[in-house]
Amino acid sequence: MLISLIVPCYNEEQSLPYLYEALCDLRGSEEKNGKAFEFIFVNDGSRDNTAGVIKGFAAGDKDVRYIFFSRNFGKEAAMYAGLEASRGEYVAILDADMQDPPSLIPEMIRALDNDECDIIAARRVTRKGEPVIRSFFARMFYKIINRMIEVEIADGARDFRLMRRIVVDAILRLSEKQRFSKGIFAWVGFRTKWIEHVNVERVAGETKWSFWKLFKYAIDGIVAFTTAPLRLATIAGFASAFAAFLYMIYYFIRAVILRIYDTVPGYPSLLCFILFIGGLILMALGVLGEYIGRTYIETKGRPIYITAEDETTGRDI
Ligand code: UDP
Ligand code: MG
Repeated sequence: MLISLIVPCYNEEQSLPYLYEALCDLRGSEEKNGKAFEFIFVNDGSRDNTAGVIKGFAAGDKDVRYIFFSRNFGKEAAMYAGLEASRGEYVAILDADMQDPPSLIPEMIRALDNDECDIIAARRVTRKGEPVIRSFFARMFYKIINRMIEVEIADGARDFRLMRRIVVDAILRLSEKQRFSKGIFAWVGFRTKWIEHVNVERVAGETKWSFWKLFKYAIDGIVAFTTAPLRLATIAGFASAFAAFLYMIYYFIRAVILRIYDTVPGYPSLLCFILFIGGLILMALGVLGEYIGRTYIETKGRPIYITAEDETTGRDI
């Protein structure tokens, strides 16, 4: 039985040798269980010598396959390319930096073999070694998104998972350009089991995710899976219109019935309301813009990635 292991790589020349060694150990120990492997390295436009390192592996190993992108398209695109190229009955995605411990893979394989589930996914239960602020915002993100969307995205869920072919095919059918895999994995359904592990720090190099990139990713995730923010804008509009109406009645009663007239009438409150309403309108426009912008990009129908070199096609396994 063939198992595909997909590794998205962006500037990972330092970590790849460690990972490759671990994968070879894995292959060695799983051979007796009748498992064969293909290692699919997707080089996501790295600027360092990642390409050379991967070619080095491929030269001496027929199980190594690779796709090189023409530029950096992001991890989501790299995962999609890897899934498309994969031919295994089981398929796993794992990071190049050893933060997704390959040592968990045998346990994952057993779980699928024993038909306990269709997807077995890893979840970090600690965020040790991560900046506190970042963990805080990450937790908040999961709280907010899970309130808004219909499927549940687990806190600490990673992209690291082993799936059956049927799941991979389902994921590939969701061919949207702006991908948010954590949501896509949850959306396709199937029986999912979780393996919990403590956070592992990357073996070499540094993270590619700045705070800003993560923030954008969070917005992408929400917009990709729910239109709730649009409704929020509508509700805020209604609420402020209603408040304005109450205010109107209040002034009407004051002036017409109680005959109270302000001599220098409410300049500060006026200013506050104008600013408040202006803010609401801009916010609503912004939310609208997020959706329209994405619709625009999606309708262009551009490919998810462009390959510069693809060794995975037309080769027998
Ligand atoms: N990655 C990628 N393209 C990118 C950014 C990251 O293929 O544009 C890969 C990276 O090489 C690694 C994985 O995605 O294998 C996770 O990246 P990283 O370790 O930087 O993220 P973190 O673990 O900090 O979330
Ligand atoms: Mg990492």
